[in-house]
Order: sequence, then structure tokens, then C-alpha cells
Amino acid sequence: MRLHEYEAARVFESVGIKVPKHKVVQTPEEALEAAEEIGYPLVLKAQVLVGGRGLAGGVKIASDPEELKTLSGKMTGSEIKGVPVDKIMVTEKANISDELYVAVTVDGYSGRPVVIASTEGGVNIEETARKTPEKIVSVHVDPQFGFYPFQARRLLRRLGLSERLLLSCADVLVRLYKVFSQLEGIIVEINPLAVLENGDLCAVDAVLEVDNSALKRIEYPLPNFLERIDNPLERRGRRIGVTYVDLDGDIGLISSGAGLGMASMDIIGQKLRPANFLETGGGITEELLYKCMELIMRKEKLRGLFINIYGGINPIHEGAKGVVRYIKEHGVTIPIVAKALGNHQEETWETLESGGVHVITDVATEKAVARLVELVEANE
Ligand code: GDP
Ligand code: MN
Repeated sequence: MRLHEYEAARVFESVGIKVPKHKVVQTPEEALEAAEEIGYPLVLKAQVLVGGRGLAGGVKIASDPEELKTLSGKMTGSEIKGVPVDKIMVTEKANISDELYVAVTVDGYSGRPVVIASTEGGVNIEETARKTPEKIVSVHVDPQFGFYPFQARRLLRRLGLSERLLLSCADVLVRLYKVFSQLEGIIVEINPLAVLENGDLCAVDAVLEVDNSALKRIEYPLPNFLERIDNPLERRGRRIGVTYVDLDGDIGLISSGAGLGMASMDIIGQKLRPANFLETGGGITEELLYKCMELIMRKEKLRGLFINIYGGINPIHEGAKGVVRYIKEHGVTIPIVAKALGNHQEETWETLESGGVHVITDVATEKAVARLVELVEANE
């Protein structure tokens, strides 16, 4: 889950990283009110979770109430890279003399946290990475050992930092790593970490994405993840404990494994269009499959449903009971084809057939999908 800038700024502040004075507003009136406390000039920042927000018009400077009113009026209700602006962060304008880049993320190759720093912070960090990669330094961290000031100083010396800036930047890095480890970060980033005219450091931007799988063990009070999922079907999927991705086709899909699901989606996609990707994981029960049916059937204008489940650790014969119970209770009329192999397969087939499901006993998913195509076409 990616947090909004104002939420991340609150986290950074809580570990002692300096952030600009700010308020979150939703209307020009609220912006004007906030400005009375913050003072001019100030910065208006659209709270949208997109990269390159500044370059896309999501960061504006207002020097007086008149300008603030106009700019905030334009920003509320507008879209930045297709994302509607609901909230605006109004911040004091920092007097920036230099822009650094600092981040901690997970290095996919080694699976370890990596601390990254550059003296070329600001909106063009991607360009720096391409053209002058030597200006970006990084170091891997042993998560058991942690990340200490001496390691931060050693890293920052490679950028040529010294004296006060070296010490204060090392201090920020150590605190940033603390956020990363305590909040199970996928990425934490400050770009720019501004060097102010008085020599202090200030986090002028704040990026924080936490690992959804770790949400339960994060002690810091975070926003409710479920409320962050815009699509109601995906929210429901998350609530019942399955992976659900909503798509724009009209063939429902239930699978008991991500690989099986993706292969099914590809094969369905050759002739028809999948309406969703639903993967149950290893926890199939009668109840879960009943809920999966309930979820899938919420999708409007479905033309057919494909169930591709494998009985390894999953008791598919239990799951089949849930599917059939749903069909009988709700009188489902669209064609349903199932491929169900593995433990208790015969019992599973029998149950599914008792609910009018077309069972394919062949191992090839292609055959099952071909049958579905026939049935869907015959049904229309
Ligand atoms: P991003 O485009 O989403 O990364 O948005 P940022 O919050 O990083 O802002 C983009 C750029 O606007 C920064 O790199 C700064 O150069 C500039 N900016 C943002 N806030 C301030 C500020 O308070 N003072 C000054 N001088 N520049 C700012
Ligand atoms: Mn930024």
C-alpha cells in the first residue's frame, strides 16, 4: 500500500525527520485558512499517487491569497495523469539551496534492503540514473544487523559529502532506514531531501509504500487498506481472502493457483475475454467457494464461468459443494465449465455435475475452454 505524501510525512516526522509545516485541504476556502497559519509563499501539492507529479502540474507555488485561490480552485477536481485530485497538501515553501535524493528499498536480486543516495535529487533523478549513474551510490544492508550511522557516513563520503552535511544526511538515512524496517517498507524515499539555505535538511517530498502482506504486524497506525481499494469487487475479494483482479471481459474465472489462473486467462483470451482473475490460494473450503461464486456473479453481463481447480493441498470436493450450493440457491443460468483434478476428483465431479456444471476430465485446459466457448455461443 502506497501512502499519500501527507501520511508519509507524518511518519517521517514521528521518527525525527524534519518536514515542512503543512496542512491538508480539500477546498480553496480551506487552503486560504491553512495559509493564514503557514504564511506565503507556499506550495500546493496534489495528493495523488503518481510519479512525476511536479512535472505533470501537481506542484504549484502561490505567493499571495489571490494566487492561492486561483491555483487551489484549479487543482481541486482536476486530474493529474488521470488520477482525480481529492486532497491538497499546503506546505510552507522551503528555501532550497540543494536537492539530495535518499531512499531505502528492497533489492530484488539479493532480496536485501538497499540504501540509496545521490546529490542529484529533484524531478530529474531518473535522468541522472541513466546519464550519470556514478552520481548515485548505494549499499546493501543486512537486516539482522541493521543500518548504523558509520555505514551511512561511509556511503555519503562516496558522494563527496563532508562535515555538517555528511553528519546530518547520515542522521536522516538512519532514521529513514528505521521507517523502512519498522513499517515493513517496500520503498521509502525522500526526493528532494532539501538542503535549506540555513544548512538544515528538510524532507520536501515523502514516499512510503508498505508491504500489504505485513500490514497485520505493523504497529504504527496506518490508514485502512481496504478503504484504499477503489474497485468494490476487488475490495470484496480482499475481504474474503482471495486474490481478485477485475477485468473488462465477460467470462468469469475461478482458479486455485496463480499459475493455473494466468494460463486459464490466456487460453480464455484466445476466443473470449476474461471478466476477472480470481485465485483462491490454498485455503479452499465450501464456504470460501460459495463466497467466490457470490463475488464473481456480482459482475454484470457475465456470459460464462470457468472453474479450474487442482486438488493438492486444496480439498476441491469441499469447494465443489459451495459452488453447487450457490448455483442451486441462486438459479445460475450461464454456462459453467469446470476442470477439477487431483485428490477426490471423482467426488468433486459428481458434486459439480449435480449442480449442472459441465465437467471436463481431460488434463488440457484448452479442451475445457473449447467446451466453454461452444456452450457460451450456443447459449446466446
Ligand atoms: P514530485 O514531482 O511528485 O516528486 O513532487 P515534489 O514534492 O518532489 O516536488 C517537485 C519539485 O518541486 C521538487 O523537486 C522541488 O524542486 C520543487 N518544490 C517542491 N516543494 C518546494 C519548496 O517548498 N520549495 C522549493 N523551492 N521548491 C519546491
Ligand atoms: Mn519528489
